[in-house]
Amino acid sequence: MIVEKLSARGPLGRWLPEAAAVVGLLIFPSVFALIGGTADMADRILIWGIFGLGFDILFGFTGLLSFGQAAFFGSGGFMTAYLLIAGVTDNAMVALLIGTAFAAILGVIIGALSLRRSGIYFAMLTLAFGEMFYFLDISPLKEYTGGENGLSGVPATHVGIGKWFVELHTPEGMYWVIAILFLIGFWLARRIVNSSFGAVLLSIRENGERARTLGHDIQKYKLAAFVIAATYAGVAGSLFGLFQGYMPPDGFYLETSGQLVVQTIMGGAGTLVGPTVGALVWIYLRTALQQLPLVGPVWKMVLGIIFVLIVTLFRRGICGGIAILWERLVGSGVAGATAPAVAVAATDKSPRTRAPLTGKVILEAKDLTKRYGGLTAVDKVSFQVVEGEIRALIGPNGAGKTTFFNMLAGAIPPTGGEMFFRGERITSAGSTAICQRGLVKSFQINQLFPSLTVWDNVRIPAIARTYGKFHPSMLRDVGNSEELNALIAQSLAAVHLSDRAHAPARELAYGEKRRLEIGLALATKPSTLLLDEPTAGMSPSERQDTIRLLKSVAAGVTIVIVEHDMDVVFGLADRITVLFNGRKIAEGPPDAIKANPEVRAAYLGNPVQK
Ligand code: ATP
Repeated sequence: MIVEKLSARGPLGRWLPEAAAVVGLLIFPSVFALIGGTADMADRILIWGIFGLGFDILFGFTGLLSFGQAAFFGSGGFMTAYLLIAGVTDNAMVALLIGTAFAAILGVIIGALSLRRSGIYFAMLTLAFGEMFYFLDISPLKEYTGGENGLSGVPATHVGIGKWFVELHTPEGMYWVIAILFLIGFWLARRIVNSSFGAVLLSIRENGERARTLGHDIQKYKLAAFVIAATYAGVAGSLFGLFQGYMPPDGFYLETSGQLVVQTIMGGAGTLVGPTVGALVWIYLRTALQQLPLVGPVWKMVLGIIFVLIVTLFRRGICGGIAILWERLVGSGVAGATAPAVAVAATDKSPRTRAPLTGKVILEAKDLTKRYGGLTAVDKVSFQVVEGEIRALIGPNGAGKTTFFNMLAGAIPPTGGEMFFRGERITSAGSTAICQRGLVKSFQINQLFPSLTVWDNVRIPAIARTYGKFHPSMLRDVGNSEELNALIAQSLAAVHLSDRAHAPARELAYGEKRRLEIGLALATKPSTLLLDEPTAGMSPSERQDTIRLLKSVAAGVTIVIVEHDMDVVFGLADRITVLFNGRKIAEGPPDAIKANPEVRAAYLGNPVQK
């Protein structure tokens, strides 16, 4: 993200984007005039830019594509226009604040309803809500909204208090009001995306389910992002009516929502400035193309072709493309600069000694059962794990190990039976609450946040551990928390990845990815770790490293491990539980399991190797 990249370095670098925005806003009208841009167009571009800042937090940072943003743009705009026309207030900023609050409240309601679904269903729900609002605008509420005619006669924008006010009658005058609001919006948006709240939004975009299992209440985060986008839309809609003295019905059009998506993608989603750049290109070209002699009649088609070209040439839009170019020019130091120096502290590879077992039961399953239709994947399995133990769960393919694990971690609900962790019933607690209590699972197939650096990956569980399942603090830079940084550095050192802190997760070697998978779980500071085949797909030397690593991890954590590699199982486990066809057939210390004839007969039909 270009804005983040620019801002991550030092106090000067931190304020560079804002400083650049101030300079840009100051010179924009004059520079824009050189290519034939008018004040009216400049105002529109910035209004779309404000609209886009909120939308980018929702779409670019959280990965939620909404086609219904016009509902909030229109609602904010009509409320503001109505208040001024009806004489409820003559202060444009008071009306704007009320209009924006109205849009935000609608954001809470529509967000809570549409976020019940994800992906394309979420997008379609937002589209449906957008259309409903358009219908309300032109039909039942037309007495207040002017229906198809919109609301004309919005008084000149009156800014100030008491005797000290100015009235703005021209687009040139309005530009400065809009520019100041844009600047405030930009500053706030940057604070939001650089906070721990923003970090969790990114993790939702990258892998929402993983963020959930690492202890985040992702529904609340999504709803907060939705309301932020609705709030920005409310400000933009209000300004739209104010600057033209007229609030048109197209504030509610599907085309308005569509144009926002197009501009954001064209300018670069996840960059904050992208939607403004997209608006600049779109609005300028729309006017300029219509004035060209041959192009004029087919301007829509030409604009469409330009959109296709930009999206095809720049994988991440115009600003995303510039960011990639910037990274190439200044090197990887910039790309990884989100990891403070503490990340590359010395790696501690020395195995630590395990404390003696206390005998206190920490995790218990009673008759845990999972049925899929006629198939019983796990059949009344009971087990008890004591604090500090390393317990292996083995069995041939299809024995029910992963299903049993998923139930323990709260990823799937059991059909029957009960689970207890530290004496508390967790049967229907769900993965977020279970993780918050200190029981966490690492996955058989890596579940990472691929575009984030190793440091930023581990930051996600560390935030859940440090601040709880929902932390709406949006103004504090996440990089400044020493507590968080120490936990991240400690977790990376534990999985021997300190020297890879700057690398994006997707660029790691397979063995490193497996270690990061364990590191994510460790950063939640669990008291019990469920490891699903941690050495799956590793080379023999990587396996040995991982066994050493797990021994070192086990110094302070109870471990339950599913593993097919018998060297790993017998090298690590204090006790072994054997599943076969969903049932528990044996349990005991490694030597007893090796000698157990039922296990020998059942396990792959062959004697247990070793
Ligand atoms: P492996 O060692 O191959 O990972 P496993 O011991 O972990 O196997 P599970 O993945 O838990 O076994 O599967 C147990 C049984 O439940 C299998 O027969 C599997 O096909 C079935 N099963 C697992 N998940 C589902 C599901 N979502 N729907 C239907 N059947 C399922």
